[in-house]
Amino acid sequence: MPRFCDVSLPVPLDQTFTYSLPLTLQHRVKAGARVVAPFGPRKLTGVALRVHDEDPGMAVKDVFRLIDIEPVLSDELIALGRWISGYYCAPLGEVLRSMLPLAADIRSGKIYTLTDAGRDASKQLSIDAANDDALNQVMQMLAARSLSAAHLKKKVPLADRVLKSLERKGWIAVEHVQQDRDPLRAPSAKLRIAPTTAEPQGKLPKAERELLAYLALHPGTHNLGDLEELVHNASTAARSLARRQLVTLTPEPLAIRSAPIRAPHELNAAQRNAFDLIGAGIESRKFCTFLLHGVTGSGKTEVYLNAIDAALACSRSALLLVPEIALTPAVAGQFYARFGDRVAILHSAFSDSERADQWRRIRAGGASVVVGTRSGVFAPVRTLGLIVVDEEHDASYKQEETPRYNGRDVAIVRAQSAGACVVLGSATPSLESRFNASSGKYTLLELPDRIAERPMPVVHLVDMRQEFLETRKHAIFSRVLIESIRERLSNNEQAMVLLNRRGFSSFVACRSCGARVECINCALTLTWHRRDRRLLCHYCGYAEKVPQVCPKCQSEHIHFMGAGSERVEDELHAEFPEAKIARLDRDTVTGKRQFEDILNNFRERNFDILVGTQMIAKGHDIPNVTLVGVVSADVGLGMPDFRAAERTFQLLTQVAGRAGRGHLPGVVYMQTINPDHYAVQLAGRQDYQAFFDKELQFRRFMRYPPFSAMANVLVRAAKQEDALRMSTELGHHLTPAPENMKIMGPAEAPVPRLKAEFRYQLLIKSGSRKELNALLKRAQEFARAQKWSATALVIDVDPFTLM
Ligand code: ADP
Ligand code: ZN
Ligand code: ZN
Repeated sequence: MPRFCDVSLPVPLDQTFTYSLPLTLQHRVKAGARVVAPFGPRKLTGVALRVHDEDPGMAVKDVFRLIDIEPVLSDELIALGRWISGYYCAPLGEVLRSMLPLAADIRSGKIYTLTDAGRDASKQLSIDAANDDALNQVMQMLAARSLSAAHLKKKVPLADRVLKSLERKGWIAVEHVQQDRDPLRAPSAKLRIAPTTAEPQGKLPKAERELLAYLALHPGTHNLGDLEELVHNASTAARSLARRQLVTLTPEPLAIRSAPIRAPHELNAAQRNAFDLIGAGIESRKFCTFLLHGVTGSGKTEVYLNAIDAALACSRSALLLVPEIALTPAVAGQFYARFGDRVAILHSAFSDSERADQWRRIRAGGASVVVGTRSGVFAPVRTLGLIVVDEEHDASYKQEETPRYNGRDVAIVRAQSAGACVVLGSATPSLESRFNASSGKYTLLELPDRIAERPMPVVHLVDMRQEFLETRKHAIFSRVLIESIRERLSNNEQAMVLLNRRGFSSFVACRSCGARVECINCALTLTWHRRDRRLLCHYCGYAEKVPQVCPKCQSEHIHFMGAGSERVEDELHAEFPEAKIARLDRDTVTGKRQFEDILNNFRERNFDILVGTQMIAKGHDIPNVTLVGVVSADVGLGMPDFRAAERTFQLLTQVAGRAGRGHLPGVVYMQTINPDHYAVQLAGRQDYQAFFDKELQFRRFMRYPPFSAMANVLVRAAKQEDALRMSTELGHHLTPAPENMKIMGPAEAPVPRLKAEFRYQLLIKSGSRKELNALLKRAQEFARAQKWSATALVIDVDPFTLM
């Protein structure tokens, strides 16, 4: 008889916790299901990992409640969670929680039950049946079954007071619980109704009969919200019919905007070559990884679609991961158009309950094609045959909070255990992936040309130092870029202008002493936002007014510096008053909708010029764009990060790739003050191979990835002396490092203060992944032994940004 169960809880402790199972749960809890269990004064939802009969030899508490009758995590996903936990040094409980998008399932509340004393008392009370005061009512209801506070309050107006007094008398017991959300409670517009084949028993109320009659006359499923206008009381009637099982109510699939539908294309020769190899890989049912390196506009998507077809043809399912920003309804629409209702979309922008619905559908086997962002890699698909990671170099695959996993790398590990194929696609593959392709670990597939022999855009570098010498003006736009935009406008073509920063003017500085106004929490320059008339910190959200005088030297020469996208938009308006200009950055776009709206309007040519930050660089396929202007190509080069050059190269290449995707050829102007920097030069020539060779030399020389395994160990504390002392002690504890390892620091982190915490970091490069992992485990043990707070130590394995 399994009397115990080991539960993994979402707490920053790397262990499972043993609980006893109450009799009622002893046969019901299965490994992989969620349970609610007491943890100190709290009740936490965790995943049962093992159900057993080994007495832990000490007093353990009961599990409170079982949430899932059927396990939510399969053995396969639990094993994947364990791998992530080990590799990224993250507590398993936190890993498992981030694998499950099911927060919407649980709601907390109170449940009341009669005690034995209460039961006796209720018998006394019921003798006086005429007594219908609040107390009696509540007692009678509770005599029938345990009820929630919410339910009681709805039925009995004075329940609140009565419950308190009953509790004092010891007649009722209260339990704080987390409850499943009732799907029938969803708003009508979010539900789809369909009749069942069951026959009504007895006579139904009028509204329900009417609704059934309507459904009989109009076969198929309907949105319940729509029916409200057609059938009197449809919403209430539907819920009541659902309880009688005469209709089913299911969550409405997400509304996907009609997207420009891509008919399947006949693959060209390069696409066919690539697909043939991928298709053979899928059929072999053996794990293998392909790197699909295709220039911008080479038709990678079409290869993915064919690969998915191939997986489906083998009765296996497929998972496609795309970067956060790229998963627009338009993109989702393409997949619906091609695969119909076999597709499920998982996206962090959807509400919790929408995501939970999609997730359940996948688990139930109702979707064999899943499109998702980073956490989509955990989709509970069965018989996985293919994982595609589009834009595999993209930073949004790396989660920047615990567990700090990289979705692309997790995809590969998952595919390996499932015997599935992985396709990593990019026009600018990460150094690591491309290196793995040259070492033979991945199979390299290339699409060297654009579709239909469309030319690559012609890129011009504009030396802004020269421009200044000639014009003696600190202009945002070079003359040649302005002329080129003018030409597009007169030809009725569209232009995109990329800027690397948001805000009206990047920052405020003092002309006398040169000091910048910085965030009080983060030691980072604040950004000026004209619309709010405030300086904002992009890390912690701190805001302040522009100071009248310099905080350092009290001079009044406070001055706005740099050019943000707002300012760029203004200058364009001034130059081209007749042009319609849209702006796309995190200031104008707060929701997914807006982002989509602006892009759609641009695609439909309601705007002539689109100004934006990184957001405009990715993936969008807008045929009428013939000009791309990059205001300051070098901004990213100053970042204190060994990937600065790679990032700059990727961004410039990607944004240049937005030009000339239709029938008209494209031109790109990149304004720079570092025209000789290899990242700018080679992006200008769109010469990935040369960039790869050059950058690889640098990485080899510096022993940066892919020539080492790297981790960033960050120590945080509210007081600077604590952060410094703790990180120094940790450094001592870890040294001397093994021979093939190098520990740098502790040093002030590039952002020395963030959200009112001081930060010091140790950067570790190791020739051996295994030894790195062992060292990090030692760091964790040290923190535990020293009784550091659970959040003081942050370990980031394969860090993406060192900020
Ligand atoms: P990438 O993702 O490589 O930048 P896309 O997949 O967006 O490129 O393809 C670019 C354009 O080429 C799209 O409009 C797509 O519909 C079109 N396309 C793709 N493959 C073919 C093909 N074999 N024949 C004609 N057009 C194609
Ligand atoms: Zn000053
Ligand atoms: Zn800040």
